[in-house]
Amino acid sequence: MTTELYLDSNATSVVLPAAIEAATDAMRQRYGNPSSTHATGLQAKAILDEARACAVRLLGVGSGRLMFNSGATEGIHTAVLSALVSLRERRDAGEAIGSLLVYGATEHKAVPESLAHWNRLLGLNLTLHKLPVDHDGAHSLQALRAVAPQAAMVCTMAANNETGVVSDLTGIGAVLADSKALWLVDCVQALGKLKLDLSSTRIDYAPFSGHKLYAPKGIGMLYVRAGAPFTPLITGGGQEAGLRSGTENMAGIAALGAVLAALERGDTFRSAAELCSFRTRLAESLRAALPGVVFNNPFDKALPTTLNFSVPGLSSRELMDVFDAADVRVSAGSACSSSKAAPSYVLDAMGVPLWRSAGAIRMSFGPLADEATIAAACERIARCGDALRASCLIPSERSAAPQDGLLQLGVEGACSWMVLDAASRSCIVIDPLPDHVARIESYVRCQNYQVQAIVSTLPNAGRAMLIDMLGRHYDCHAEADQYGWPQQAASVALDNGASAAAIALGRQVLACLPCGAGDELRAYLLGTAQGNALPAAAVRFAFSARPALPALSAVSGKQTLLCPTRDEANQFCTIAAPVAALAADAQLECAALDAFLQAHPDACLVDVREPYEFAAAVASPPAGRAVVSVPLSRLAEHASGWLRAEHTPLVFFCRSGNRSMKAAQLLRRLGHPQAYSLSGGLALATPLPLAA
Ligand code: PLP
Repeated sequence: MTTELYLDSNATSVVLPAAIEAATDAMRQRYGNPSSTHATGLQAKAILDEARACAVRLLGVGSGRLMFNSGATEGIHTAVLSALVSLRERRDAGEAIGSLLVYGATEHKAVPESLAHWNRLLGLNLTLHKLPVDHDGAHSLQALRAVAPQAAMVCTMAANNETGVVSDLTGIGAVLADSKALWLVDCVQALGKLKLDLSSTRIDYAPFSGHKLYAPKGIGMLYVRAGAPFTPLITGGGQEAGLRSGTENMAGIAALGAVLAALERGDTFRSAAELCSFRTRLAESLRAALPGVVFNNPFDKALPTTLNFSVPGLSSRELMDVFDAADVRVSAGSACSSSKAAPSYVLDAMGVPLWRSAGAIRMSFGPLADEATIAAACERIARCGDALRASCLIPSERSAAPQDGLLQLGVEGACSWMVLDAASRSCIVIDPLPDHVARIESYVRCQNYQVQAIVSTLPNAGRAMLIDMLGRHYDCHAEADQYGWPQQAASVALDNGASAAAIALGRQVLACLPCGAGDELRAYLLGTAQGNALPAAAVRFAFSARPALPALSAVSGKQTLLCPTRDEANQFCTIAAPVAALAADAQLECAALDAFLQAHPDACLVDVREPYEFAAAVASPPAGRAVVSVPLSRLAEHASGWLRAEHTPLVFFCRSGNRSMKAAQLLRRLGHPQAYSLSGGLALATPLPLAA
């Protein structure tokens, strides 16, 4: 049974059961080509005619034209091509057409890309002009008024995909009343959520996409006002009255027809008032679970089905990860850009501060949403809040359980390290990077550690900000040198005969090793002292800005992990001894997991997602086996243990197989012969949800 709660409907929706049935019927029974004149063809044509008639009534197409196509991107291109071809003809005939192609700053990228594409291909050389929006995301009518006399074409949207903000189409229409500019309105997010009566407006072109409202992907519609210029994007067999050639996507049209029929009947989808109450409940849950959450879209000016929010101190990646672990699907900004952590251009255009625009999450549902889904989503939101709190990512009134051992912050690129001792609730910070200072501070505060020292591998590295933030959690009595090393440290004897200053942390010691020409570089050795000595074999970790420092080899052992404080190569940690070549068999296919576990009953399944994802997870682990949680930030600590123990087979997994591959590669590189990554991750290992 699926536990998935799909709250990413602005990206795409599940398919309405009636739409699946209609598509199946169009493929099984009424599979004809609607252009054929025999009975089978006529049966298919009936599907086409019915769907179109329904769309015409529902959207108020009047005497305008409505064609089926593959979706909104095609509709936008067809509209822009039509407009620009006509503009070129008018200009060639000596008419003044205006010099600007105006588009809203928050339009879907398909709009400016299409304008730029056809402007270039048709050699029009008009100027693309971005129309600003206000703080609420509404197009500036004042700015539009100013450019309207020079506008050749104006492109705006009915509702925004990231924020749900509804445009003032009446106001825009009024500004354009005396303008000859052709007007495109992207109606993708409005279908089924806003009442449309297109032929009563000045709108020339309106594209739609079926998959945003419970139809499948690959089917869409384009409305063209009666009398608006038109040039087909695709010519050929003359289908769709010559407006769009190519044999029709009948399964898609049948499915979209079923959705449109449901909309027209009014018996399937929720009312705006019900949807508003769903949004209120989700917003309240978010407020309760995530302290300081800020909503980036004005609820009173947006579709009730979209929430867009940011949480202080949390990146959109972290929020996405915790929601995904709780099987709640949301997206970071818009779906197209969610793999990159780039700020949202939509929120940027609204003047939203950078931290909110870069950390935004979009939670969207459709008008089919039901009570049970919203109630379950509210519970999962609370679960995510608890998981984040327990992991010290959001403030909590209670101290979290302290952790022990090594923690690596910023596991890719440059990193900072923390050495933690749970028993004494004390820790040492090594090379804190400015980007990690806030995280270190909240970690220390939430687990109620006392920071004994903040040391660096280079002199005069900035520590003041962290010391300031830590307040009473920093042991400020200790006088420190320019590396942050306390003046009154004890000492241990190293294997090279030298004596090194050392700080005790629980049962371990951190020894300081001046190295490099002129002593400007320092390395630190962490291990368990034996009496007054720290033998090379007892050194578990060596921290250094340059892992290959010659001074380290005489004082560290074969299994000492070298922990770089600048990890450009994303290696997490390395080892001085020669390493095994990277094995090609480190990927374990999901289908092979059961057999692998049967063959290796001692194998250990390791979840490398962060602790908040592990805590929020609702899906059962792969193969129903017990798992251990070792996030990448704790990998160095555990790798050291795994390498010292017998070589138990390790199967790493995460959501997508990306992080687990890094873990498996690290262990293989360090010489562990049986480290594997579950290929495709949990996303492919858990049963796929059925559309409902
Ligand atoms: N316009 C808007 C507002 C959208 O949200 C989308 C889809 O994300 C599109 C256009 C493009 O639609 P499609 O990818 O279905 O062609």
